[in-house]
Amino acid sequence: MRTLPPGSTIGIIGGGQLARMLSMAAAQLGYRCHIFAPEASGPAADVAARWVQGAYDDRAALAAFAAGVDVVTFEFENIDPAALAGLPVFPAPEALATAQDRVTEKTFAAAHGARTAPWAAVDSRADLDAAIVAIGTPAILKTRRFGYDGKGQARLASPADADAAWDAIGGQPAILEGMVAFEHEFSLIIAHGQDGRSVTWTPPVNVHRDGILRTATVPPPPVVLAHAEEARTTATRIADALGYVGVLTIEFFASADGPVFNEMAPRVHNSGHWTIEGALTSQFENHIRAVVGLPLGPTGLVGNGAVMTNLIGADIDAWGSLAAEPGAHLHLYGKHQALPGRKMGHVTRLAARGSGSA
Ligand code: AMP
Repeated sequence: MRTLPPGSTIGIIGGGQLARMLSMAAAQLGYRCHIFAPEASGPAADVAARWVQGAYDDRAALAAFAAGVDVVTFEFENIDPAALAGLPVFPAPEALATAQDRVTEKTFAAAHGARTAPWAAVDSRADLDAAIVAIGTPAILKTRRFGYDGKGQARLASPADADAAWDAIGGQPAILEGMVAFEHEFSLIIAHGQDGRSVTWTPPVNVHRDGILRTATVPPPPVVLAHAEEARTTATRIADALGYVGVLTIEFFASADGPVFNEMAPRVHNSGHWTIEGALTSQFENHIRAVVGLPLGPTGLVGNGAVMTNLIGADIDAWGSLAAEPGAHLHLYGKHQALPGRKMGHVTRLAARGSGSA
């Protein structure tokens, strides 16, 4: 393990709010961040030392960017892994490649002991009919690649929905997944260091609306906590198998059979923002620690728990009252336009001292 001394420069691919919070955590430890992103500016620009504009698949531009920093990481998973080959990047491009494709991801997860929804690869309209026969309905058709925040998905209540679903996802390579009956969704966030050690946080229960995360709450209800150990074991196996360095997030459904692996993100995650105030070490700090080769910090809860609420679109208009609310930790991402569905910021409220945990 080579530890980069404070004063070293970390390159972050992607310049959104995750890069902004990574840069702030890096600065606290004395590191500087350079950002590489296709846009002219973004949330991370306000807090990073340098912004380099370039396309995510531009190998030459990425190589030049990497030459100007001591180590590279990313906040965004839709980067061409081949464009990162040979660069000093954590986590390794193989982890990115595994997580980018739902077929590779589910196959890999199952090979490491994870329970998944029944699924079948769908590369053509005829494949979809075969998958419906194999899996049944209701089911969800999801593009294999480039899905986020519920985009690139279509639900089938019955086989009669096949044409509409196929059209809705643009006839792209996809998977058909059987519907999992679950009461709660939760995520397991693990940080894996260069020394092979890992730490996990208490899994938050996550509530989505319109496919976008609304709240993440720790501790989760007891029915979810009962799944935590198995989810932790799965996450550790996956991170070990990938030789992972950094923060990895796995989303699970809490089903009657146990935790069902939904998907993984090879990065810090929205469901972990509460760790800034609600945990002894945040996901952002531990990601930076892993990437620069420092020991990981402890992840226990601060106090009794926390609720993180995303500020989406016009929710941001409440910034004045949120800023005036005692104990509400307000994070604004510096985005100029509050478009519908856009994550503008978040607020974390810690459970009152002495209050019982869920
Ligand atoms: P994803 O993009 O895979 O995270 O899916 C978006 C949301 O759709 C999830 O957060 C779940 O609420 C729901 N969902 C996805 N896959 C399934 C499934 N196999 N069974 C039930 N609900 C699902």
